[in-house]
Amino acid sequence: MDFERLQSRAAAHGFEFTREAFDLHFSSIVFDLHIDPLIQQCLFGYDLETAHEPGAWCKTDPRGLGARLIQRAHRGKHRPLFNHTDLPRLREGGYTGAAFGIHWWQRHRKIPASSLLARNPWERIVRGQLKEFQRLITQGALAFAGAPSDLREAHQRGTVAGFATLEGWHCLGLPDAGLTLQERLNRLRLARDHLGVRCLTLNHHTSNDACGNGWSMIEKDAIPDETLGLTDLGEEVSAACSRLGLILDLSHTSRQGILDACRVHQGPVVVSHGGASEAPGAPAEEQAVSHRLLDDACLRAVAATGGVIGLVFSPAYWKGRDDGSLDDLVGQARHIRDIVGPEHLALGSDFDGWITSIPKEMDDCRDLPLFTQRLLDGGFSTEETSALLGGNFLRVWEQVVAGRGE
Ligand SMILES: [Zn+2]
Repeated sequence: MDFERLQSRAAAHGFEFTREAFDLHFSSIVFDLHIDPLIQQCLFGYDLETAHEPGAWCKTDPRGLGARLIQRAHRGKHRPLFNHTDLPRLREGGYTGAAFGIHWWQRHRKIPASSLLARNPWERIVRGQLKEFQRLITQGALAFAGAPSDLREAHQRGTVAGFATLEGWHCLGLPDAGLTLQERLNRLRLARDHLGVRCLTLNHHTSNDACGNGWSMIEKDAIPDETLGLTDLGEEVSAACSRLGLILDLSHTSRQGILDACRVHQGPVVVSHGGASEAPGAPAEEQAVSHRLLDDACLRAVAATGGVIGLVFSPAYWKGRDDGSLDDLVGQARHIRDIVGPEHLALGSDFDGWITSIPKEMDDCRDLPLFTQRLLDGGFSTEETSALLGGNFLRVWEQVVAGRGE
């Protein structure tokens, strides 16, 4: 919480960081709907409990893997891939909490789709990441956000709280591994009851038996079907989320799947790391890196459920290139506000999620208060700004929990 540091970072980019923005930011509940440092911990031994310098940790990465990846990130111009967050830096950035992504790329060159691991990653891959998440909580490094009240408490105490998001229904296993729907739903309940999961996305980079996914350059040979929507089984998954009080997340889901899920789902949905494809400056469809942005019809569908859209912090998504600024991101927020209203905005950076750059004014999550400043400068009221930072999400989560049946 270093006012002078933020002041000089802002000055270096030609704007003023005010005491008003500082006070608003650090008195607000700040929640990021999607960050991915856990996978870096599992892959590279990235230590979430240590404050890292931007770009520095990978130099001491014993295997040098992280350093090599960052150097070779061909699109990455500004802080590519990861090392955007750790727990001390989240605290310094004024975060109350975050949703920590757990994932498994269903298709991988080295792992044939037919292998048991690809079909059933639950035990070895998914539970492994959830174990890391649990360890942070039992060791007291991270507070568990099991309910909305935990966020309010973390805010009062000045600690960081989190829950886990399963990124993709396939994380629970696929039917060709011999798993029934009920067995997979049992795993989902177990994940809620014992493993800290509070949110499920239908898809990651692939379609599955619940829903079609949005196009992604990572899976360009997988030919996802944008017209494939929510299946009958997907409808049961949506109903299970409502019943279990789990947040249904439509990031990575196909356009049709978003429209279908918003129509049938009981309660508000979130798009944890997304944006608006019809905002000024958004890339034309053929230049888009990934269908992570929502057109206005999808924005309206999400808003009609009472849900929120978390703003992704990757310029490649909302600009089609890597040199985006915080003002471009404010433009995304403004479009969503104009189309559906400020109560449907949230944060969903995708930090550490192998995004190819972050806004040029930011080195890492400690610089989030600069976004608060640019929102105020860009015509957002203090109420709208604070709600975007976390209040809107808190409202959604409270509704999800209130609608829970078991
Ligand atoms: Zn994602």
